[in-house]
Amino acid sequence: SDHDLTYPACPAAMNWSTHYPAFVATTATPASIPEADDRAARTEDANEYGHPTLTQPISIADIGCGYGGLLFALAPLHPSTLLLGLEIRTAVTSFVQQKTLALRTQHATTGLYQNASCIRANTMKFLPNFLPRSTLKKIFLCFPDPHFKARKHKARIVSPTLISEYAFVLKPGGKVYTITDVEDLHDWMLGHFSQHESFERVGEEEVEADECVAVMKEETEEGRKVQRNGGVKYVAVWRRVEDPAWP
Ligand code: SAM
Repeated sequence: SDHDLTYPACPAAMNWSTHYPAFVATTATPASIPEADDRAARTEDANEYGHPTLTQPISIADIGCGYGGLLFALAPLHPSTLLLGLEIRTAVTSFVQQKTLALRTQHATTGLYQNASCIRANTMKFLPNFLPRSTLKKIFLCFPDPHFKARKHKARIVSPTLISEYAFVLKPGGKVYTITDVEDLHDWMLGHFSQHESFERVGEEEVEADECVAVMKEETEEGRKVQRNGGVKYVAVWRRVEDPAWP
């Protein structure tokens, strides 16, 4: 149940500065301009909720991130991009948060992993509460729970409504990546994405050349498990198209 889940009224009501302290936006106060490099002479920019603003929006979301394998593999490959894992299980979220802090300490000299964080969220209900419209470049749906029985299909994280939410938070040109070892779920996702007017399927050549696809296959916990068991990994990538112009 979601009764103990906390979520902001809107993305601006979320204080992201504690998640990405190295990416908090600062402005030099007029009196301090000669020493503009002096951090003490700078003030944090704040939004209408009084929260410090970030230098950039979150660009990559891993929905149902589990133990964060994808997050921790992508973060050093995209060190100046903000990545967020969203996970519904409390203990798993806490594991990812602790591991992030440990990796930041371990890599303090290079500043790696400052760009990764994780929140506890039920993305089926609250994704637009956390992420603003047209800001994401990539969404990953890696090995979503298959919910095999027909009466459980409504719990799948791909549905026409949820695809509309993914379209809402993605920038035009942004991509949704899906991977699963369950053929029936792959077909389900193909069916729903191909029928949605906001997405077009990315061609095989582009998919094969995309480093994120290799990371998704090899660095997720589930991807490794499927590899060990000799299973098949079904991949699809979808591009967010521009909305049609108003007549
Ligand atoms: N993506 C990871 C991987 O590939 O190794 C984990 C895959 S695991 C099979 C599915 C994950 O999605 C679980 O960690 C589960 O708790 C999480 N999950 C399921 N429903 C969710 C929801 N509505 N919101 C956020 N996370 C969810």
